[in-house]
Amino acid sequence: MAKMRAHEVYEAELRSGTAYLGSFLSVKEAEQTIRDITRTAWWRRRTTVHEIELRYKPRNKLATAVVLDETDMAGYRRKGLITLVGGGLCPGLVYHELGHIISYDETEDHGPKFIKAQLDIIYHFHSPWAAKLLEESYQKAGLL
Ligand SMILES: [Zn+2]
Repeated sequence: MAKMRAHEVYEAELRSGTAYLGSFLSVKEAEQTIRDITRTAWWRRRTTVHEIELRYKPRNKLATAVVLDETDMAGYRRKGLITLVGGGLCPGLVYHELGHIISYDETEDHGPKFIKAQLDIIYHFHSPWAAKLLEESYQKAGLL
């Protein structure tokens, strides 16, 4: 079920034309984009996860995002890990994975909370038009 939902989300992203939104020229550039987003008040109102490590594994097939179990002294989970893969060193994939960090809980994968978080990130850090195209694509696919 979760796998099918993920597949439907990827298809809707591709159909919208907003899956990639350009490309990064280096891993450093992708890291900088993640830092630029996660240090904003906007981001910090939405999640306690403020420190996100990026790994680039060109041979892996699927990008992933996890929030690490480790907590700080107040009991908050502060650290996340995003892995990007070959062909996926691009803003669209970073926004997608950051959407997983904001909506993170082990039971929800590509559900409504994820979609809302992803659309919000694209709206605020890329462009309202891209968010609108993706939202329309999700609506057409019956995912919203
Ligand atoms: Zn995903």
